[in-house]
Amino acid sequence: MVQDLTRPTASGNLPADLEAFWMPFTANRQFKSQPRLMVSAKDMHFTDSDGRQVLDATAGLWCVNAGHCRPKIIEAVSQQVATLDFAPTFQWGHPKAFELAERLIQLVPNGEYSHVFFGNSGSEAVESALKIAIAYHRIRGEGTRQRLIGRERGYHGVNFGGISVGGIATVRKFFGSLLTGVDHLPHTHNLEHQAFSKGQPEWGAHLADELERIVALHDASNIAAVIVEPIAGSTGVLIPPKGYLQRLRQICDKYGILLIFDEVITGFGRLGSAFAAEHFGVIPDMITVAKGITNGTVPMGAVFVRKGIYDAFMNGPDHAIELFHGYTYSGHPVACAAALATLDTYEEEGLFERAKDLSDYWQEAVHSLRDRPHVIDVRNLGLVAGIELESIPGKPTARAFDAFLKAFDKGMMIRTTGDIIALSPPLIIEKSHIDQIVETLSDVLNEVA
Ligand code: PLP
Repeated sequence: MVQDLTRPTASGNLPADLEAFWMPFTANRQFKSQPRLMVSAKDMHFTDSDGRQVLDATAGLWCVNAGHCRPKIIEAVSQQVATLDFAPTFQWGHPKAFELAERLIQLVPNGEYSHVFFGNSGSEAVESALKIAIAYHRIRGEGTRQRLIGRERGYHGVNFGGISVGGIATVRKFFGSLLTGVDHLPHTHNLEHQAFSKGQPEWGAHLADELERIVALHDASNIAAVIVEPIAGSTGVLIPPKGYLQRLRQICDKYGILLIFDEVITGFGRLGSAFAAEHFGVIPDMITVAKGITNGTVPMGAVFVRKGIYDAFMNGPDHAIELFHGYTYSGHPVACAAALATLDTYEEEGLFERAKDLSDYWQEAVHSLRDRPHVIDVRNLGLVAGIELESIPGKPTARAFDAFLKAFDKGMMIRTTGDIIALSPPLIIEKSHIDQIVETLSDVLNEVA
């Protein structure tokens, strides 16, 4: 007989022991002594194991842009798994992967991107983009272009490529020497010049010129690509200064360097358009996405490549594989079905426009927290906000973590990183939820140590 490892509770059977799961990016011992278990979700709310409603102020982990358990997505996934659970995409195919790639490239105006490469996560999308960049130069006879440039405080997932170009010390420092041939631009965050900016800060475009310094040091002939998040999310919501991304684009163009936008959190409506590239009017050579592509329902990541990149690879004999890269689950049928239904939901409900329409209300609401205790900055764009708290001397992260726990006690899921509270609600949010988020946070900030 199979051993029963659960215990009955009012919310259904829960695990009797939480020990065996080594939780990712989590204070395991704290969590297991004080668990926060979600057992169901609908639209803007989770239900936790005590039967309490928890308002989702972070779209799960920046992914559930259309809200939870949306009918069309449930239906599509259920049907797909019962019809074609899996088909390989190495030398085989299935219709939905092609349909989805076509739908995706149509999301960007003017047909700027011609092809999409699929993976299963943001980390894999980033890894794929970095490899495509280096291979692209080599295939065109510029094989010396191998160096990659990231940015301090950047987050590009957890694979070796991603942590090498990433710029968060805790994510890098335990893992050895990482990739060689990587440089970092300075981050753009500066409270002295930018604190309490509404939308994009006025100060900081000149920081893009640091790319010139790196090019002067290594020579452009050795540089493959620059990768940045248009808004740095995981490091605590750093909004790009006005003109900064445009300047990066100009310098990359000048030297034939590929520009990659990591839009794993900004993609799929977060700023009121399909991608941040459109919002900022800057077209990178590749865009990496994940999360909102399937509304978080089934893991999926993807890389959009601009016209010409794919074509550069199509030059050997017809029977030869052109790119030796891919994942067993690249374009998985269930993920494709989820993504197609997600795109339908975004479109039918006009959710990207909804994010845009709500962004002014959101801005005023979050900035009303500027005078709460410990708040040293509030920043926002689209439906994203960062609230930076003064750290307790000698105890970095403790104050924000306290706020995180207090918010949960009050029935709200927020995300904290360092001493910054990051907010990124589902795009179906109502003004009344925005009011609730701000009122709850106001109470939390009045109570934190
Ligand atoms: N890139 C960015 C900008 C992200 O914010 C994240 C995750 O938050 C990733 C990559 C990694 O995505 P995943 O956790 O799906 O691997």
